[in-house]
Amino acid sequence: MNPRVRFSPSPTGQLHIGGARTALFNYLFSKHHQGKFLVRIEDTDLERSKKEFTDQICESLNWLGLEWDEELVYQSQRIKLYHEAISVLLKSGNAYQCFASKEELNKIREDTGSYLYPGLWRNKDQKNVALEIQKGTPFTIRLKTPETGETSFDDLIYGSITVSHSEIDDFIIARSDGSPVYNLTNVVDDYDMSISHIIRGEDHIANTPKQILIYKALCWTVPIFAHLPMILGQDKKRLSKRHGATGVQTYRDEGYQSEALLNYLSLLGWNPGTEEEIMSLSKIIDQFDLLKVHKKSAVFDDKKLNWISGQHLGMQANEDILIRIRLIKPNWGKTESNDFCLSVINLMKGRSKSLLDLIENSVYYFQDPTEFNEKVLRKTWKDDTSNIVESVHSILDSMEIWNAELLEDTLKDFMESNELGFGKVMKPVRLAICGRVNGPSLFLIMELIGQSTCIRRINKAIGTF
Ligand code: GLU
Repeated sequence: MNPRVRFSPSPTGQLHIGGARTALFNYLFSKHHQGKFLVRIEDTDLERSKKEFTDQICESLNWLGLEWDEELVYQSQRIKLYHEAISVLLKSGNAYQCFASKEELNKIREDTGSYLYPGLWRNKDQKNVALEIQKGTPFTIRLKTPETGETSFDDLIYGSITVSHSEIDDFIIARSDGSPVYNLTNVVDDYDMSISHIIRGEDHIANTPKQILIYKALCWTVPIFAHLPMILGQDKKRLSKRHGATGVQTYRDEGYQSEALLNYLSLLGWNPGTEEEIMSLSKIIDQFDLLKVHKKSAVFDDKKLNWISGQHLGMQANEDILIRIRLIKPNWGKTESNDFCLSVINLMKGRSKSLLDLIENSVYYFQDPTEFNEKVLRKTWKDDTSNIVESVHSILDSMEIWNAELLEDTLKDFMESNELGFGKVMKPVRLAICGRVNGPSLFLIMELIGQSTCIRRINKAIGTF
C-alpha cells in the first residue's frame, strides 16, 4: 500500500526547526514509498491561530521544497465533520454529557489528589441529563473510556507502548462552548483524509492511547504511529527560542540554502548508515528508512549545519549561486561584470557557510577596505613592515603582465632574495588589500581585482598605518 501521511502544524507561530524536521520525515517516508504527503492546518484554536502564521508555514515549506500533494486542509473549515463524529459517539453511548462544574471538579481533585475525572456523569440516567439541559447548565462531552484493561500500540520507532486504562479517564472531547478538542479533531481528520501513518514528535506519545480509544469507539481502523525523537539544544534542553535561531525563515534570511538545511535536518535522528553525509534531497529520499530513526533525542549543532551548508555551497555552480545571492541582495556586485562576480563566488564559495556569509565576507572585492581590526593591525604591521610593503609596492607597480602565477613567482623571488618569511610579507599585503588576514589565495584575489586597485590600497595602508 502506498502510504498517505500528513504534516499538521498549528498556526500559532512560524515553522520552526522541529516542525520542519517532522514535515521532512513525513515527506521522505511518503516519497520513498511512492505515497502522498499532505498538509493540514490545525487552526481550531481561534485565539492563538493566525493567518499570517499559516502563510509563513506554507511559505517555509515551499522554500524547503516540501510540496504537498493535495489541497491544504484547514480544520477551521471542518467543524461540521467533528460535530458529526461527536454525535455518533453520543448516539452509540461511547460518549456522554458531563454537567459537572469546574468548581465541583476542582474540589474533587483537591480531596482525592487525583487529576483523573471520577466518572460523575458516566452512568447518569437520561432524566437527570434532560433536567440539566432544560436548566441550561453548561456541559462538556466526554469519551466513555474502558475502565479495565489497557491500550497498546506498536510505534515504528519506540516499539510497543502500553498504557493501562486506569490511567486514562473519561477525557473531554468537546468543551462547554461546543468546540471539539485536539484529540478528537486530529482523529476525525486523519481518518477522513485516509492517513495511513502518523509521523509526529515524541511529545505526542501521551495523546496516542487516547486517540486510539477514539478510533475504536468510532469503529475506525487505527493508523500506524511513528514518533520522532525530540531535538535538543547544545545544553541538552528542548530546542527553543532560547537557543537562538529556530525558525526556518531565519535560516533562509541568513542565507542558508534549502538543500543544505534539509540535508542537515534529515540527519537529526537518522543517518544513512554510510560515511557520506552530504546528500541531495533525491538521494535522501532514496536512502531514508523510517525504521532506522533513533529513539535518542537529537542535538542541534550549528557547527555541523554550517559545515553541511558550506559543502553544499562548494558543490554548487557559480552561476546558480549568483542567482540566489541576487535574490537576497539584488544589487550585489552590480558595479562589476558578471564574470567578475562569478570569479568572486568561485574564490569564496568553498570557505563560506551560507550565502549571507559569502556576501558579507566578499565586500573587499568591490570596495577598498576602510575598517581594520586594531588587534590584527598591531600584530601584523610591525616597525619594519612599511619598508617591506613599500618594496612590494614598487615591484607591483613595475609589473607589465598581471596574473596570479606571475605575481606568485615575482613575490616569492622577492621574499627569497631578501630572506623574508611569507607571513612577514604577505600578511601585511593581504591586510592592506583585503582589510583582513585570511581568505583565499591572495595572488588570485590580486589578479581579479587588478593592478591599480591593489596598488592604491597598498599605498593607502603605507600612508595610514
Ligand atoms: N497540531 C499538532 C502540533 O502542531 C499536530 C500533532 C499531530 O501531528 O498529530 O503539534
